[in-house]
Parts: sequence; C-alpha cells; structure tokens
Amino acid sequence: MNRPLRVLFLSVEVAPFAKTGGLGDVAGALPKALHQLGVDVRVCMPLYRSVARQHVSSDPVVPKFEVPLGAGSVAAAAYQGHLSYGLHEHESRPPGAAPTSHPTNNSEPSSVPIYFVDAPHYFDRDSIYGHHDDGERFLVYGRAALELCRSLDWAPDVVHCNDWHTGIVPNWLKTIYRDDPFFAGTASVYTIHNLAYQGLFDYHFLELAGLQQDGFPYPQIPELAHTVDLMGRGILYADAVNTVSERYAEEILTPEYGERLDPLLRDRRDRLFGILNGIDDEELDPAADPHLPTRFDAATLETRLQNKLALQREAGLPESPGIPVIGMIGRLSGQKGLDILLPVLDALLRRPLQLVLLGTGDEHYHYHLRQAQERHPHSAAVFLTFDTPLAQRIYGGSDIFLMPSRYEPCGLGQLIAMRYGNVPVVRTTGGLADTVQDCDPRAGRGNGFTFGPYDHLDLFAAVVRAEETFKHPDYWRTLQLRGMASDFSWSRSAQKYLDLYAKALEFQRQAT
Ligand code: ADP
Repeated sequence: MNRPLRVLFLSVEVAPFAKTGGLGDVAGALPKALHQLGVDVRVCMPLYRSVARQHVSSDPVVPKFEVPLGAGSVAAAAYQGHLSYGLHEHESRPPGAAPTSHPTNNSEPSSVPIYFVDAPHYFDRDSIYGHHDDGERFLVYGRAALELCRSLDWAPDVVHCNDWHTGIVPNWLKTIYRDDPFFAGTASVYTIHNLAYQGLFDYHFLELAGLQQDGFPYPQIPELAHTVDLMGRGILYADAVNTVSERYAEEILTPEYGERLDPLLRDRRDRLFGILNGIDDEELDPAADPHLPTRFDAATLETRLQNKLALQREAGLPESPGIPVIGMIGRLSGQKGLDILLPVLDALLRRPLQLVLLGTGDEHYHYHLRQAQERHPHSAAVFLTFDTPLAQRIYGGSDIFLMPSRYEPCGLGQLIAMRYGNVPVVRTTGGLADTVQDCDPRAGRGNGFTFGPYDHLDLFAAVVRAEETFKHPDYWRTLQLRGMASDFSWSRSAQKYLDLYAKALEFQRQAT
C-alpha cells in the first residue's frame, strides 16, 4: 500500500467534545497519536446538542445522505471539526482556520479530522445517554458513519469500533456489507473499554439494523442466543478484539470478570489482545494546566503545596500542609469500589486525613457520601457533580489518590494522578495492577500502595499505610517523582494499535 493506512475511528464520546468517562479521553487522544505515526485516521461521533458549535464547521461536508433504518431510512448530514495537537498552551484554533492535516513528527500544530453526524431527531437532546431509544440512536450513528465514508469516497482499511454503542458495526461488515465492493478490503477492530455495559436489545433491534436474516448467532451463550447483545456481537464479528490493559484481557476470560461473555471470549482468545491506555500528556500537563492555581513540574514540586492549600480552602476543609488529602474522582458505580469504602469511611475520616471526592452516579452512593460529609464536615468534602476543572484541581492538589475498584479495565484516574504528583492507592485489578506497583522502600521500588482482596479492611490498611508514609516527606517526594517520571503517553500504545490493525487486516484477508 503506498498511501497511509486509513482508519475510521468510531466512538460516541470524544473529548473535548463530549465525555462522561475514560472512553471520551481515549477517543480524544489515541487518534492524535496514530496520526503522528502517519495514519490517515478520521474520527466520527454524533453531533450532540452539547457539542460547542465553535468546534464545528458552519457548512456541512456532506449536506444530506440517507442512513438505512429498518424498512426505510433517515436523512443525516455531516459536519467537520478537528482534534488539534501541537498547539501552544491551550491555544485554540479559530473555527475557519484550516490546520495542516498532514502527520508531523515535529512540534508543528496538526490535527485529525472529526466528522459529526447530524441527525437532530436522535442527537439534539440534553444528554448523551439515558434515552429510551439509545440503541436506535447509536445504530443510526454507526450506520451513518459507514455511509458517510461512501459519500466522501474514502474507503477505510480499518474501522475501529469502541464499546457496545458501535458493536453492531463489525456485524454489518461481515454480513450486509460483505459483498459491497466499497468495503471489500475493510477490516474491523473492536475495543472493549468496559465489558459490563453490553447494550442489550430485543429482536426488533435486528429489524432496525437490517439483520433479521442474521438472527441470533451464538446458541451456546444465552446473551447471544436470545438477546441482541451488542458487546457480544462486536467481539464475535470483529477481525480483531482488544481491551485496554493486558491484565483485564486475561481477567475477562474468567467467569468472575467475564460478565457472562467469558465463554465467547475464550473462543475468540486468538483474536483478543490487551493494549494499555495512555493519557494525553499535552492536555494533562501540570506545568501547563490552566485549571491549576499553581502550575508545577518535577523541578518545582514544592510549589504544589499551593494547590493543596487552595483545594482545602475550596473544599471548606482546614488548611493544613501536614494532613494528607485523599482525592477520589470517578463514576459512583459499584465498579469503583464504593462498597468497600463506605463500611470504613467513618473510621478513616476519624484519622488525621481529609477526603475530597468528586463524582456522580448511583443515588444510593450520593446519599451515603452526603451523610458522611455531614458527620465529618472537617475531614470530608463531597462534590456530586461532573466538573473537569475541579477534577484537575483535585489531581494537582491532593496527596493520595484512591481507586479501590472492584474491576478496572484500565483506569485513567491513577495515570493522571501520578502525572500530577499524586500517589495512588489502588486495588490490584485490571489496568490498576498493570500501572501501580506497591512501594518497597528497602528495595527502592514502587510508585504507590496496592491491596489485593476486595475487602474493606484491606482498603483501610492500604490507606493507613499511605497516610503513615506521608509523614516521611523525603520518601514521599521520591514516590511522587517516580510517578511523575513514568511514561504514560500514548506513543507506545499507538504503535501497538498499528500492529493490531495489521493483524485485523490479515485476519480479514484470510476470511475472504
Ligand atoms: P471510567 O472510564 O471507568 O469512567 P477512567 O478512570 O478510565 O474511568 O476515566 C475516568 C475519566 O473521567 C478521568 O479522566 C476522570 O478524571 C474523569 N471523571 C470521572 N468522573 C468525573 C467527574 N465527576 N468530574 C470530572 N471528571 C470526571
């Protein structure tokens, strides 16, 4: 092939345009790293109401195209934007200005094209998720993305799908698009960011997708024998599948972590890989973060204290350099370990430490966290909202970052925390196990504190160990610097995605 590899990158969240969690971060960063490696990558996402219009071209790139749906079709348009990189400190590009679209290896600003699918009936709503017709909405988006390629006369070599919202796309490529000359050479890659969210629908969904002939493909597994399980279909039909850490790729082969798809995953083991996520080290840089009161790097680490004092003030907690502040940021769901935190929260908050927690999620956790804050107003501050600037102030101001997850496909929180000089306390699962090593002062190893069993007493002990270690500033500083020096950038993982694309193309060729 003497042109760059063409990759269509599909995700229903892409930071900074729309994000509720790690998927948005990955979709906003990995395409840029691929572009830097010379890939002709183009991203496609829905045009939600919340996408700031200054990011979107005023004229459509494709004013109207038809998206098949059931026995009919819906009309859509596509607008263009850019995922820019190499700009100086959060400089933003004026909407009309055309950035270079060519991959660069130097510090020249460059950008990845992103197409926004405009179908107002489906996407002009006040939230990204939580609608009764989410399945149909993302089906329209996925089909639109493929049809858009045709309108642009840009046939992708690889369609890279992410999570259940796009799980139907590999299914289409292996069925209704199989004999379509336009997609003759197209392979699919399916990335599992979180196996627990599978996208389950009934038979009607197959009619909408035009896949009633395909039926239920996998009689061995109830999820795939009687239900349209979009996560399962992505795994079953994609040419190559991966998840976002090596440990999680192993874990999901077991009943404990396999979310009832483990038999399918074991069958597809030869297609299943683990590639650790990175973080966008340009966007997430404590030396350039516009949200931090005081910017810092390894050489000026002592000025980080100003961020801690500012955070304590903001959180209404006593300003005290000597008391360790524990930060916690994330979706408040069972996955994130709240069930082992809540039983020991009172005991922890009676110790000389403070907790600043930011998150939204299950009402039940909101209630208990609010109650804990009322009982411990001098040691707990709970922010039950989604607030990116505040998240950055917590990463850059707290001392200890707690992630006691029950399972964690990769986890970005601990990576961002380490880059911001925060020392993680994590449970050894999934990507947390792949990125945080328990510290051992005598051996001079480790970058955080870990515990194994999913148990509240183990969590308690790990936090107390961190709290006690915090009393030794020189050693603490060593831990901070070790975390800050780690390379969690995307470049290494992006190279692994290139290898994965090559494998997917090879599997696709063998199948035809
Ligand atoms: P997950 O993808 O399971 O939600 P990750 O740790 O991989 O968890 O990624 C979570 C991302 O979302 C991080 O960038 C984190 O900072 C951000 N985030 C989570 N909750 C909030 C919140 N309430 N406010 C701001 N950012 C949040």
